[in-house]
Amino acid sequence: MPHYQGQMSSKLPNMGSSIFSTMTQLANKNSALNLAQGFPDFSPDKELIKLCKKYFNGKNHQYAPMAGIPELRNTISRLAEHWYTQKYDPATEITIVPGATAGIYAALTALVKENDEVIIFEPNYDCYVPAIRLQGAKPVYVTLQHPEYKIDWDHVKRLVNFKTKAIIINTPNNPTSTLFSAEDMRHLAELTKNTDIWILSDEVYEHILFDGYEHQSVARYPRLAERSIIACSLGKTLHTTGWKLGYLLGPENLMTEIRKVYQYMIFSANTPLQMAINEYLETYEDRINLASLYGQKRDYFLQKIKKSRFKVLPCKGTYFALLDFSKISNEDDFEFAKKLTEQHKIASNPTSVFYRNKINNHALRFCFAKEEKTLKAAAEILCQV
Ligand code: PMP
Ligand code: GLN
Repeated sequence: MPHYQGQMSSKLPNMGSSIFSTMTQLANKNSALNLAQGFPDFSPDKELIKLCKKYFNGKNHQYAPMAGIPELRNTISRLAEHWYTQKYDPATEITIVPGATAGIYAALTALVKENDEVIIFEPNYDCYVPAIRLQGAKPVYVTLQHPEYKIDWDHVKRLVNFKTKAIIINTPNNPTSTLFSAEDMRHLAELTKNTDIWILSDEVYEHILFDGYEHQSVARYPRLAERSIIACSLGKTLHTTGWKLGYLLGPENLMTEIRKVYQYMIFSANTPLQMAINEYLETYEDRINLASLYGQKRDYFLQKIKKSRFKVLPCKGTYFALLDFSKISNEDDFEFAKKLTEQHKIASNPTSVFYRNKINNHALRFCFAKEEKTLKAAAEILCQV
């Protein structure tokens, strides 16, 4: 349709479609296996679907309370205490949101002002920077070096100044599959002590850690918990990314501000799904054994590609594995990922897109949240490349 001729100045001038949409479209166009976008290709638990049917057939089709149905907030409070020994008050310290992305956006909108600085570690998940920029604030990058992606905390310390408003962390990490250690948490606590800095802790992969590693939630550390908002995703935990439900945990003073924004941004999340998930989590919480489920998938996939020319980087958590292709090609990683999709019919994610300056480490991210037959087919292709 024709559009008016006036000047339209974009608020995000250099931002295109997300890499996940781009690669998914390319995968679909080429009928390629999609290991690019992170989502399971298997169904959620039948019991959960049964509960959804029950609540969709019931009478609960109107708005939920703004912060989420109290029953689900109570259940989450109990689980968070069980997992991390930190008590969150369901009335004031837990908010159910339609996916972690919405929660992260609401938190940054509520708590970051124009000209503030927010420290982030790159490579970083894609939704932080636009949310920071839209507040007129500035992302301050700490670049982690491939392939270890270790944090130099002295460097981070040098970046902190009176403008620093927040630090965003993400463990287990997308896209690097690395984890924060207890030592990292100690540094973070030391760095933020006696400051007004708050922490946004993206913990959407909180249950997906391998080889006996324990999740370092900020909730475990009272000194960190008192200044942190945790973003969680029920989409990851229940294999239901398309349902877009998640929650935020955090102290009342921060949560009150976030709710002020959230009530005008979205207001409340899907009622029947909250009810179904609550009943499921009340009864089936012990079935959340993602470490074992995804640990087996990781091992299966990585074993099957052992004979390929890709080099596997350490994968300690999340459902992504980074594969180094430098023995196969010197190309730009996006071009190489495109070629794999178009010619070999397998889609992955280039990792340069997670860096502001598009650093090419010759590494591609593959999602292994897939059925065995998908992983087998993917591995067969990769062994031919
Ligand atoms: N943070 C990270 C690190 C993610 O990988 C994702 C999505 N996979 C999200 C946040 C967003 O989660 P949701 O789908 O619940 O919005
Ligand atoms: N978080 C998913 C990933 O990393 C993608 C979510 C999305 O498509 N926005 O692949």
